[in-house]
Amino acid sequence: SEKELAPKRPPVVTVMGHVDHGKTTLLDAIRRTRVAEREVGGITQSIGASVVNYKGQKIVFIDTPGHEAFTEMRARGAMVTDIVVLVVAADEGVMPQTIEALNHAKAAGVAIIVALNKMDRPGANPDRVMNQLAAMGLIPESWGGDTIYVPVSAIKGEGIEDLLEAIILIADLLDLRGDPEAPLKAYVIESRLDKGKGPLATVVVREGTLRVGDFVVVGTTYGKIRAMFDDKGDPISSAGPSMPAEIMGIQDVPEAGTLVQRVDSLEEAERIAKSNSDLQRDKQQKTRKEFSLEEILSSSEEEKPVLNLILKADTAGSLEAVQNALLKLEKGEVDMNIIHAGVGAISDGDVILAEASKALIVGFNVRPVGKTNKLIEEKGIKVLTYRIIYDLVDDMANLLKGLVK
Ligand code: GDP
Ligand code: MG
Repeated sequence: SEKELAPKRPPVVTVMGHVDHGKTTLLDAIRRTRVAEREVGGITQSIGASVVNYKGQKIVFIDTPGHEAFTEMRARGAMVTDIVVLVVAADEGVMPQTIEALNHAKAAGVAIIVALNKMDRPGANPDRVMNQLAAMGLIPESWGGDTIYVPVSAIKGEGIEDLLEAIILIADLLDLRGDPEAPLKAYVIESRLDKGKGPLATVVVREGTLRVGDFVVVGTTYGKIRAMFDDKGDPISSAGPSMPAEIMGIQDVPEAGTLVQRVDSLEEAERIAKSNSDLQRDKQQKTRKEFSLEEILSSSEEEKPVLNLILKADTAGSLEAVQNALLKLEKGEVDMNIIHAGVGAISDGDVILAEASKALIVGFNVRPVGKTNKLIEEKGIKVLTYRIIYDLVDDMANLLKGLVK
């Protein structure tokens, strides 16, 4: 018998890119397209997400969280993003954080659209950006690949409709579906304490429907939803798949990435929240996780286990040398996948990506910066650093042979 498909749901989009390449300006320009919808103007408090109606279709934009927060959500199993819009200033081209954002998006397995921003600038050179990104696997459609590049000027509001068209097109291809009748699955993307309303959390519903009056457990906190608000601050009574809502009525301010569960009563909600806090306390007492190779080797559906690597080096030249040496390694019982390669110290972002992707961090002539050591310790991430390329390659060769425990 045919399985009935769940109804379509709107795409959830996150904008990422290098600092100052125009993420905020682009989101503002996109939001401006919906101003006409509202009779009374005025700025409403941002809830961390906004819904744009484009030609009768909804698109949900998550306020650009930075790739670290994006991957932190993924590490917690709270992937709400379907499509990443990678913003690259066409005059400046690909920069270190462009590459980081791209690798975080790739590791998350989401669809990527490139917005070539600042096209109004005299130095804009979209071909150069396409060349740079094609070398990293984002082959433009016009070159026979499947990545859509959209030239825009966020500041002039040009190309915004083309970008929205591209999002709708990709969303159709992805065939995104969500069942409003399914058991509730929703995640916190942002939270705050309001003087009058108390703790508020913005959630994005993945499946099912969240309603006013629901009893919910939100990680270690809980409550009865007394009111819900949409992205414009207007009261709503329910939110279905993909939709964001700010909820009021929980006891405390939850962390981003926390799962929202519905239960039958306030008593049950309280009991589960309490047991969640006990669990969390136990976890915190076990400060340092023990690293094991099995944890790093993702053996999921692949025939061979895969060694995920994050490579950091002191210069572009040394990074290239290490990458080339590693690519020449003979594959043994283990496959190698370099999910991110970058120049510079080992950063919090690298650690978060390593956690979410179960990767090993390898540094060549670089080490973690001060505060990052603490994060490495907390998350139990394995970091190996080298000063001699030969040693590095040798160790990786041994890992690939599956010899090292
Ligand atoms: P973000 O750090 O990626 O959020 O970048 P912003 O949105 O804050 O933009 C950084 C700077 O670039 C600001 O001064 C913007 O006014 C400017 N900017 C953004 N988009 C454009 C554009 O399309 N054209 C030009 N000329 N400037 C832009
Ligand atoms: Mg910004």
